[in-house]
Amino acid sequence: MTPNEVIEYAKQQGARQIDLRFTDLPGLAQHISYPIGQLTEDSFEEGFGIDGSSIRGWAAINESDMLLIPDPNTAYMDPFFETPTLCMIGDIQDPITRQKYDRDPRWIAKKAEMYLKNSGVADTIYFGAEAEFFIFDNIRFDQNPHSGYYFIDAEEGRWNSGREANNLGYRPRYKEGYFPLPPTDHYQNLRAEMVETMLKVGLDIECHHHEVATAGQCEIDQRFDTMVKSADNMMLYKYCIRNVAYRHGKTVTFMPKPLFGDNGSGMHCHQSLWKGGQPLFAGDGYAGLSQMALWYIGGLLKHARALSAIIAPTTNSYKRLVPGYEAPVNLAYSRRNRSAAVRIPMYSSSPKAKRVEFRPPDPSANPYLAFAAMLMAGLDGIVNKIDPGESLDKDIYDLSPEELKAVPSMPASLDEALQCLEEDHNFLLKDDVFTEELLETWITYKQKNEADAVRLRPHPYEFALYYDI
Ligand code: GLU
Ligand code: MG
Ligand code: MG
Repeated sequence: MTPNEVIEYAKQQGARQIDLRFTDLPGLAQHISYPIGQLTEDSFEEGFGIDGSSIRGWAAINESDMLLIPDPNTAYMDPFFETPTLCMIGDIQDPITRQKYDRDPRWIAKKAEMYLKNSGVADTIYFGAEAEFFIFDNIRFDQNPHSGYYFIDAEEGRWNSGREANNLGYRPRYKEGYFPLPPTDHYQNLRAEMVETMLKVGLDIECHHHEVATAGQCEIDQRFDTMVKSADNMMLYKYCIRNVAYRHGKTVTFMPKPLFGDNGSGMHCHQSLWKGGQPLFAGDGYAGLSQMALWYIGGLLKHARALSAIIAPTTNSYKRLVPGYEAPVNLAYSRRNRSAAVRIPMYSSSPKAKRVEFRPPDPSANPYLAFAAMLMAGLDGIVNKIDPGESLDKDIYDLSPEELKAVPSMPASLDEALQCLEEDHNFLLKDDVFTEELLETWITYKQKNEADAVRLRPHPYEFALYYDI
């Protein structure tokens, strides 16, 4: 849409307000609303002023004035606000220099797409990201930042209607959540409403289902799209899911491992490069891949440990990346092995469907940064012709200890991932897609606010282990 078309559309829809959205550095959506009168053709040029100093990971207080420039291609009517409201994503600019802001995650993703085009390798990358999540009835945590003691209790198991309250008879058996019919699947109605809401705001949905974990784990799959669009879509997807759940008195989490001993939530990312409308990942190599796709895999695997700090960027991410729960541990590729970091889906023989599925990412990642970083790693693989080595098609559990030792694995903690990113990030700096300054900010932020913050707090399980020592 052009700015004028957006204004026209707002009128047609009876919009009384506009709401501008953007994403902070860790990946949470932020927003600010204005009466509709503020939306003029000029405002698409001049933008809307905000104070960036209270946004996580952004500027210091002395350099905090910023502009939000609405992107007219992202307009939709909000499906939840009581006052009819037109939403758009805002891009961040410095009001003095009118430069785009290097810590705006969306700008980083746009730069990565430009780098791809300039490289001549391809003109388009498609991303299909499959985010899983948990629906709970109750989540309680006592946040006392001084004592630092958090008590957590997540519960699932009641139907939407009070009629079934306390009827926990129909529950998926352990690891059998994928995927029996209701009443065992408690969330068909809720997911269907989530999907209908998503369709209304323009997301393209392929399917939805319960997932493997026993307690309310679900997945809704969006159709692939170009990279920045896909990241925009992921933000909108989470927004719809959380708000439909909230409307029904439920709560949703995208944290990767909310429950010990059950499957966690991944955000597998299917990726393929295209040029002039032609797919570049199909060929006559392993699993029907092209040489280019194999190099792309080589880049993903070579940089996977550094990438982890961006694609699995929370302390909780590393509780998911352990053997036994369909999450990847091994830095290898395979046409079938789900514990390998890269899987080649074989559902279709069409060259257009040929893609690489990278399994380490989880939905706690900022999609703009995560997608951009994966693209940079894959491109580094292509430019430097990085050989991904032999595929790992044996069941991991059949490997001898020596064989297993030879396969590198994901980092075991956020601290280790941040260390890996510190040591290996030149591939991200090409054409200033990620800047040194941004990466330093990221590493310091994650180390101090998350890794150290968790390390310094007595863990509830320590009480079980040590209270009577
Ligand atoms: N939940 C698994 C994960 O953590 C993935 C299950 C699946 O293959 O869909 O990655
Ligand atoms: Mg899944
Ligand atoms: Mg998958």
